[in-house]
Amino acid sequence: MIIQRVVLNSRPGKNGVPVAENFRLEQSTIADTVQAGQVRVKTLYLSVDPYMRCRMNEDTGSDYLQPWQLSQVADGGGVGVVEESKHDNLAKGDFVTSFTWPWQTVAILQGSSLQKLVPQLVNGRLSYFLGAAGITGLTALLGVREKGHVAVGADQTMVVSGAAGACGSLAGQIGRLEGCSRVVGIAGTDEKCSILVQEMGFDAAINYKKGNVAEQLRELCPGGVDVYFDNVGGDISDTVISQMNQNSHIILCGQISQYNKDVPYPPPLPPDIEKIQKERNITRERFLVLNYMDKQEASILQLCQWIQEGKLKVRETVVEGLANIGAAFQSMMSGGNIGKQIVSVSK
Ligand code: NAP
Repeated sequence: MIIQRVVLNSRPGKNGVPVAENFRLEQSTIADTVQAGQVRVKTLYLSVDPYMRCRMNEDTGSDYLQPWQLSQVADGGGVGVVEESKHDNLAKGDFVTSFTWPWQTVAILQGSSLQKLVPQLVNGRLSYFLGAAGITGLTALLGVREKGHVAVGADQTMVVSGAAGACGSLAGQIGRLEGCSRVVGIAGTDEKCSILVQEMGFDAAINYKKGNVAEQLRELCPGGVDVYFDNVGGDISDTVISQMNQNSHIILCGQISQYNKDVPYPPPLPPDIEKIQKERNITRERFLVLNYMDKQEASILQLCQWIQEGKLKVRETVVEGLANIGAAFQSMMSGGNIGKQIVSVSK
């Protein structure tokens, strides 16, 4: 059977900015027959995520991520529909997902590598299983719960960087649902800031590309910052940490501003900021959602419930067509997305 697939065409280099041309669409073939234990799936949605930047390097710098190989098909989170099954627990028409879905239109996969989805949990919005009701939602929820020390009635102020992105937009809303009294976002455009406040219930948002972030933060967080959900690192985080309170908490979710640089993870803080962190006893522990998969099932149900109740507002930036996945990745890495970046493959 003839299919389309996307392979890694070239590496951007450890310190380079990734571009669409680092990926290549090509025609390929898969077997016409499905073996025992396998299923043939049609791809519906693929997830595009910042961690993939590390997979573009020869060495990802972490033991839980494998590098993509040149001229080999790329993979990541995906959702699809079973077209033919020789696996006992899967039938034609079932919707399924996996973290290692190949970037191709149709694939033959081991049934045991797939999780069956219940579309009703997300009102039929299957792509949500890659975002708010998937690993992104889990990251936001478990990040807040495991590292945020948020407590109802504690009058805490939370700041979120990368706030209009996939994790950030959920993290701020979850911070509020879990008890924070004030939530302030930091994002890269006025449009993003306005969505955070108008749609997602943030109290305020700062466009870090305009004006003085430190001044605006002081004005918007007069009692200082108690919880910082950090998606970006770098200068923005240094500014936020400088305004954090004694015994406050950083949720070290990601450091996207450092991903095109050859630095260790998590990147060390500059000496003056590290001094503040130590003196004020600010926690900054590494957080990796994959370490909390025992909480996956209950957490996904919680996220789906909030989505159904309208308590968690979800935004997606959907790009049509497998051919555009490299462009979608480039765009997301430079701030072109609002909420979760998704590629719709079937249309
Ligand atoms: P995302 O935030 O939806 O997309 C990336 C966003 O980052 C862009 O929209 C852009 O928004 C912002 N950005 C890009 N370059 C930046 C820079 N130099 N400085 C400041 N902001 C920049 O991506 P996501 O999927 O939600 O991931 C957010 C972070 O969480 C990433 O660092 C990711 O690696 C991390 N993550 C961690 C875990 C975990 O287990 N710890 C799991 C999933 C994701 P602006 O327009 O606002 O700049």
